[in-house]
Amino acid sequence: MTRMVRDVFLAFARVHILHHAAEEPIFGVGMMKELARHGYRLGPGTLYPLLHRLETDGLLSREVSLVAGKARKYYLITRKGRLALGKIRPKLNELASEVMP
Ligand SMILES: [Zn+2]
Repeated sequence: MTRMVRDVFLAFARVHILHHAAEEPIFGVGMMKELARHGYRLGPGTLYPLLHRLETDGLLSREVSLVAGKARKYYLITRKGRLALGKIRPKLNELASEVMP
């Protein structure tokens, strides 16, 4: 895969993550499965830094809850994340209508 394709796929994966975090709290493994369902095979070494960066950029917030005695990190979209998603959606639509046959 060329770097250009990888960069674009990672950007798409970010949009996916924001979209799902806007619907319900997400967690790493669940998101990894969801992205795989869409054909993106992201390992933990790629996904976790991506989630972390969305968090440090203020687009996601993190909460830790106990699931079956284990601490699980959940990510929720922030107001800033929703604003970003709101800016991305029309561009995505516009791009798709331009480039899709
Ligand atoms: Zn999805």
